[in-house]
Amino acid sequence: MASVDIIDVKKSYGDTKVIHGVSVSIKDGEFTVLVGPSGCGKSTLLRMVAGLEEISAGEIKIGDKVVNDMAPKDRDVAMVFQNYALYPHMTVRDNMGFSLMLAKRPKEEISERVNAAAEILGLKDYLERYPKQLSGGQRQRVAMGRAIVRRPQVFLFDEPLSNLDAKLRVAMRTEIKALHQRLKTTSIYVTHDQIEAMTMADKIVVLRDGIIEQVGSPLDLYDTPNNLFVAGFIGSPAMNFLEANGNADGSFTLKDGTTLTLPHAKASAGQALKFGVRPEHMLVDAAGPLKAKIQVIEPTGADTQVFCTLGGQDLVVMLRDRVYSQVGDTMPLSLDLKQCHLFDNASGKRL
Ligand code: ADP
Repeated sequence: MASVDIIDVKKSYGDTKVIHGVSVSIKDGEFTVLVGPSGCGKSTLLRMVAGLEEISAGEIKIGDKVVNDMAPKDRDVAMVFQNYALYPHMTVRDNMGFSLMLAKRPKEEISERVNAAAEILGLKDYLERYPKQLSGGQRQRVAMGRAIVRRPQVFLFDEPLSNLDAKLRVAMRTEIKALHQRLKTTSIYVTHDQIEAMTMADKIVVLRDGIIEQVGSPLDLYDTPNNLFVAGFIGSPAMNFLEANGNADGSFTLKDGTTLTLPHAKASAGQALKFGVRPEHMLVDAAGPLKAKIQVIEPTGADTQVFCTLGGQDLVVMLRDRVYSQVGDTMPLSLDLKQCHLFDNASGKRL
């Protein structure tokens, strides 16, 4: 196992700059997720760690070795892809042992490593099957088995679950997390899915347009997002943003005329702001300051999502309790102001 240090790394394709100087330190044994919208540069960054893309500037270290000019096979990393492309004419056993065969490891060692990986992944009864005789989840496990048998210093996952259906994706992300807890191999995992990032990561790196927006633990990012982008990206359903105007006493006024004060952030007079409140941080309360008009009610059983408008803006509310109001009713809401945020409109930064 090893730490991974990405130090001021840049990448251009011709004149097009796609990574603009990214620095992240990943500790030995840590599970780090790179997350961001499509095209933000996550795969490029991962592929640079793997050695599949050259670095235009900066340095990548695995352990204490600078690997900038090292061939992929010498970096001691194993990659699991979205398109896991198993060899159809080979059994699970041979698929898993193939890289060791290429490396000319002794037969007994290959067999021992494949058996150990199959045990970990629950594939012992499937070793003599061919890929077409497996379910999607089992095939994905074989793809992980191929990585595990190599006992690499670092696992690199590139959207490994995107081809699976929603239910299997949830099951597999739990499996990968359990696997990491068992093997404790340093892992870098790329996804565009913030829920995957939140549920799996020790550390999340949020990327946008080739720069880092924030690095932190899942709950750091959820509780204290640095800016509007991270606040809107992390959390589901997403944080509501309501336009607001700052007052001289540090309070702020929403479009519908409600004036609020946050205990931890002061607005300036005339400052254009976004007030951020997560759907789960509001409650139906006759004495509450917000009077939201109900547009759509969506009960899921466990909770209810209510789509409202307030001062002409959309407001989504997530309630644990059942909702007995009707569409068109006004719903009084109180908010947990300690958990709300103010963002400066111009810079996007959290106050
Ligand atoms: P992500 O994984 O976050 O979806 P990528 O790392 O695949 O994003 O791509 C980042 C950016 O780099 C995108 O704008 C993409 O179009 C561009 N890009 C990726 N590969 C190449 C390439 N070989 N040539 C030119 N541009 C590329």
